[in-house]
Parts: sequence; structure tokens; C-alpha cells
Amino acid sequence: MPHQKFEYAPAPESRAIVDLAPSYGLFIDGEFTEAADGTVFKTVSPSSEEVLAEVARAGEADVDRAVKAARRAFTSWSALPGAERGKYLFRIARILQERAREFAVLESLDNGKPIRETRDVDLPLVAAHFFYYAGWADKLAYAGFGSDPKPLGVAGQIIPWNFPLLMLAWKIAPALAAGNTVVLKPAETTPLSALFFADVCRQAGLPRGVVNILTGYGDAGAALVAHEDVNKVAFTGSTEVGKAIARTVAGTSKRVTLELGGKAANIVFDDAPIDQAVEGIVDGIFFNQGHVCCAGSRLLVQESVQEEVLDALKRRMGTLRVGDPLDKNTDIGAINSAEQLARITSLAEAGEAEGAERWAPACELPDAGYWFAPTLFTGVTQAHRIAREEIFGPVLSVLTFRTPAEAVEKANNTPYGLSAGVWTEKGSRILSIASKLRAGVVWANTFNKFDPTSPFGGYKESGHGREGGRHGLEAYLAGAAETSNERSEREGERDHEGV
Ligand code: NDP
Repeated sequence: MPHQKFEYAPAPESRAIVDLAPSYGLFIDGEFTEAADGTVFKTVSPSSEEVLAEVARAGEADVDRAVKAARRAFTSWSALPGAERGKYLFRIARILQERAREFAVLESLDNGKPIRETRDVDLPLVAAHFFYYAGWADKLAYAGFGSDPKPLGVAGQIIPWNFPLLMLAWKIAPALAAGNTVVLKPAETTPLSALFFADVCRQAGLPRGVVNILTGYGDAGAALVAHEDVNKVAFTGSTEVGKAIARTVAGTSKRVTLELGGKAANIVFDDAPIDQAVEGIVDGIFFNQGHVCCAGSRLLVQESVQEEVLDALKRRMGTLRVGDPLDKNTDIGAINSAEQLARITSLAEAGEAEGAERWAPACELPDAGYWFAPTLFTGVTQAHRIAREEIFGPVLSVLTFRTPAEAVEKANNTPYGLSAGVWTEKGSRILSIASKLRAGVVWANTFNKFDPTSPFGGYKESGHGREGGRHGLEAYLAGAAETSNERSEREGERDHEGV
């Protein structure tokens, strides 16, 4: 039969459901307000470079106002019975479900990620997080942290641009369930969903000051971390900023959790179901344009199946559709910012300069906006920058191995330790390899699976602390002498001696 190629007709999701105002203020003490010095900045759609709105840029005085509002609210919020706090969280979860389509479109507009992902992954997980922690609010005494665990106080939370609303949910839901109040700073390139979330808080009747949202730049984040009346700092972002935050809080009584970068190994053994593994490799590195801290950015493939895997992978990559994030058929959307595009481009150039072989399927990129074709590098060695540094884009580095021991050694040869994947038919091999990998999460015969009941976090330069699950509560409760993260890190050290 002759090969026939059918083009996909455009299937754009309407953006009419999102009612964007020309400008937005900071959300402090239940009200939208201008920045004290009146400064604003613009947020653009990375797929078109269109200005979406102007938002207030918080400064130190605004950080202080927000922390004071959160402190005032803490007294009554923390005194509420857990079941009452739970009611608010359930209400927020239900409103997010009701407004899911609006949020999905908004997030695609401001972030550039495909609507298929915001609609089917981000929003369902966001609601699930609030539902999950709503359920914990009246059961804290049974969570294993003593019979009467207490909240910490005011949490300063700083989130990145790759999953804006989902990272907000990971931060706010456990904090509120445990009785803390929060001041949250979204990333400068993706402020809108957090501001719309402020509206959800109002809709849910959440008492004023319990959630405060400060849009702004890194200096606002730094001021929040340094504020003397913040009890807990929760950060997701780059390792570099994470280290700066650790330095700022060192020597203070502030508790801190850091969720930083990663350079995950996705290990494919010769007995793996190849077609399934290829789907997992694609999901691991091209989901969300590769802007994923736990992305499977290093493919470790057993030498004997290298050719078969790469042939299948290239065929599959040739079917990925890059383009309009609001089109329901789009697989890969826009790169979040010009700055991130420049970083990806320069690391890919370094890959070529260092001698790795670059390949990308033929693919037409839109003229306006920030785009990068799905790319893979073969002939990569462990010394190459593209094997060591987090690219945070749709770029896969392929390395090979011959024995399981070599796979483990290469997988662990990184300063990071956030996630890993193992593809093999043998259950015993999965258990044996997973126990030797120094990564907070190990997926077996799947990749990038998330669930609010499951703790997530890293080893080494991927940070410390766990988010999600019962463990995620611990970061917001006083009293635990040694956190379970520290414990697992310590036990991990012991388990891995000699490997
Ligand atoms: P950053 O770590 O700079 O940004 C994360 C958040 O921290 C943003 O809200 C940012 O604000 C804020 N911030 C920046 N500087 C400070 C500071 N000194 N004190 C407190 N908060 C601060 O990440 P980038 O956006 O610059 O991305 C750079 C690289 O980081 C990426 O290429 C990727 O490798 C990695 N990254 C990892 C993520 C992860 O999930 N692990 C997420 C995002 C990035 P602002 O937006 O204004 O800069």
C-alpha cells in the first residue's frame, strides 16, 4: 500500500474563556494592590511574543506588607479546627476543577506549554493536590509527627515557570492544611495563573491574609527569603539560586526545603519492551518542552539494542508536532522565554563543538515566539557538557552501556539526584537497579508519573526535602528533630556505600 500522509487540521482551543485584564496588582491581605513604588512589568505569550498583561512588580516594602498580613492571619488560621481548614481546601479544589478549562488555557498562553498537557496533566494534578491535602487537615495528629503537631508560621514560597500552577499547588496545599499562612512569589515569566488563583481564594471565602501572592523578579524572592518574620522557606528552581537561599537562611531558625535541578538517567536494558520504552523516552524528555526538573535527559541504552532503540526513537520523534500551544494536536509548545531559548541553544552548540552528533527531525518552527525542535545527540560521553549540565529543554543526550554495573555507575555520575527510569522485563533487575540509583524517584517501565500521595524530592544538588504525600506535611510542621528526608538521605548514604 502506498504511504499516505494526512495533515492534521488545526484544532485550536478558544481563548475566549479567559478574561484577561490589561493589568494586575499584587494580592496582599485579600486585596489586589499596586506595588508600593508603582513598578510594573509585562508578561508575554512565548508562542507569539504578544503582551498578555502588565503586572505589579513587588519590592521589599511589598514583601514586608505581605509577610505582615500573613502573620496577622496566622493567629486565627492556625487556631481553626483542622476540619474547618479542610473545608476551605476542598472548596478551592472544587473551584479549580470547575474553572479547569479557563486555567488550562491561561497557563498555555502564559507558559507556552501545550493545552493537551495543561488540560490533561497540570490541572487534574493541581486539583488532586488540594483534595489530597484537604483530607490531611483534620488528621495531622495521625500523620506520625506527634499527637499535636503545630504549624511553623509564615511560609515564604518561591516557584519557577515550568509548572506555574502545579508548583503553586505543591507549595500552598500542604502549608495551609498544616495551619501555616503563605506569601508566594511566582516566576516573572509566568505570573498569571497565580493571580487567577488569588481570585479562587476570594471565591472560596478564604480568610484574608492566609494566601498572599507577590509577582516580581528575583529580588522580591531574595527579600522574601531574608525577611526576619518568615519561618519557613520553600523553593523550587535552579541549583544556583537554591544555594544562595541556603546561604541566606544558614544560621537562622528558618526551616527550608529546596527542590532544584536534575539530570536524570533513563536506562533501557536489552530485554525492555522497546516500543513502550520509546514512548517513555519521548515522554521523559519532550513532555513540557523538556522544562522538567526530573526530565529523563540522559538516555542510557544497552549497546546491543542501541540501533533498534534509536531507529524507533527517531521515527517517533518525526511524528511530534511542534507549534501553537492552544492547538489540541500539539505535542511540543514554545520555549518559555528568549533567555531560556538562548541557554538551550548555547548548550546544544556546545554539544556539537565537543564532538557529539546532533539530530532533529525535519520540522517547521513558527516565525514569532521562542521555539526549539526536538533534538537528540548521539556519541555523547560523560565528560560532555550536554551529559552533565541541565539543559532544561527538548534535548536528549544518548549514552550507551554494556553491563548493569556500568549503567548504575554512569547513571549516578552526576551532581544531581532527582529522578531516574529503568526499562526492563525483569522485576528482580528493577529492584536491584533502583536500590542502587541515587535518585529521589525511580520510575520503572514508565516515566514522569506524578501522584499527590507520593513524596517527590532529591539527593545531592537536586536539593533536600520532600513534597507530596505524608512526607510533604512534615516540611510545614514544627517539632520533628530529624526530618524523614534527612533520615532517608542518611540511610541512602549507608545503603550506597561501596557502590
Ligand atoms: P531560577 O532559580 O532563577 O528561578 C526560580 C524562582 O526563583 C523564580 O521565581 C525566580 O524569580 C526566583 N529567584 C531568582 N533569583 C532569586 C534569588 N536570588 N532569591 C530568591 N528567589 C530568586 O530559575 P530560572 O528561571 O533562572 O531558570 C534557570 C535554570 O534553572 C533553568 O535553565 C533550569 O536549569 C533551572 N530550573 C529548574 C527548575 C526545577 O524545577 N528544578 C525550575 C526552573 C528552572 P524570577 O522568575 O524573577 O527570576
